[in-house]
Amino acid sequence: MTDRLLDLIQRQGLALGDGAMGTMLQRAGLTDGGSPELWNVTHADAVRAIYQGYADAGSDIITTNTFGGTHYRLKLHHLQDRVFELNQAAAALARAVAGADKLVAGSVGPTGELMEPIGPLTIDEAAAAFAEQAAGLAAGGVDFFLVETMSSLDEVQAAVQGIRQASDLPVVVTMTFDTNFRTMMGVTPAQAVQTLHGWGVTVIGANCGNGPAEIERIMWEMAQARPAGAVLMAQSNAGLPRWHDGEISYDGTPDVMAGYAQRMRALGVQVIGACCGSTPDHLAAMRRALDGPPLAHYEPAFDLSQEQAKPPTDSAARRAARRTQRTES
Ligand SMILES: [Zn+2]
Repeated sequence: MTDRLLDLIQRQGLALGDGAMGTMLQRAGLTDGGSPELWNVTHADAVRAIYQGYADAGSDIITTNTFGGTHYRLKLHHLQDRVFELNQAAAALARAVAGADKLVAGSVGPTGELMEPIGPLTIDEAAAAFAEQAAGLAAGGVDFFLVETMSSLDEVQAAVQGIRQASDLPVVVTMTFDTNFRTMMGVTPAQAVQTLHGWGVTVIGANCGNGPAEIERIMWEMAQARPAGAVLMAQSNAGLPRWHDGEISYDGTPDVMAGYAQRMRALGVQVIGACCGSTPDHLAAMRRALDGPPLAHYEPAFDLSQEQAKPPTDSAARRAARRTQRTES
C-alpha cells in the first residue's frame, strides 16, 4: 500500500492540512443538538461546499466530516445503525472534491466513553467500533485515517488496532495537549511521539487545544523527543474562544495563523493545518505563508521556565468551547 501522505511530503517538503469542520457546519446552520455526520446525507451540498472551500484555499488534505462517526458518538443521535453509511458518504463527498491530486483524511475522533479501568469501555469494544467506522471511510475512498483529538493512549491503541482490522491504509494520530501541556489523561508530547512511533504510526502530532502559542510549545517538545523517521503534524485552533453576541468566536486572525504555520515549519513540522475556529480564510493565509520563504531566524515564542504558562481566558467561553469540541474537530 503506498503512503500518499509521505509521498506528498517527500515531493513538497510539507503538506497543508485543512481547518475546522464544526465551525463551518454551525455557520451553515447545524444546531447544537444536531448530528454533524447526518449532514453527510441530509445536507450533502453544504458539506461538499465546506470541503471545496478548503480545497480552494490551497489545502493539500481534505478531512472528512466524521469526527463523531463511531457507534458510541452516533448513538447519542440514535444513528448507531448508520455508521458505515454516514462514514462512506462523507468520504465519497471528500474524494469527489479532492480528485486525484489532493488527499482525503478520514477523521476518527474519540468515542466519548472512558476506557477501562477508569470507565466501562474495553480496548476490544473500542477497537470494534473504530474498525466499523474505518470500513465505511475506506469504502468511501480515503487515502489515510486521521485519529484526532485523543487524550488516552489506550484509546489510540484501540483505534490503531481497530483500523488495521478494517484496512491497510496508513494511520496518522494527533492528540490534544490542553491540560498544562499534557493531554487530559496526563500524556506528554514526548510520551506520545515515542509510544506511537513504537506502534508503527509514522505521522504523529497535536491538534485542537488553546491556540498557536500552546501548540508551539507542544511541538517543540515533540521535536526534541522525535525518534528518527517520525513525521510531525500540528493542527492548532485559531486562537482562543471568546463569547461574542451569544456565540463563540476564536481570536486568531488569518495573520496569526500564517505566523503559526511559519513557526511550525521552523520546528520541522511537516503537516500543518488548523482546528476549531479556523476557516478557509485562515488556510489561505497559511498557504501563502508556506509558499513564501521560511523564517530566517526562529526563537521560541514561549517561556520554557514557566511550567504553568497558560493564556488567561474567559472560563465560560472555554467550557462552551469544550462542549463544541465534543461535536467537532
Ligand atoms: Zn479543535
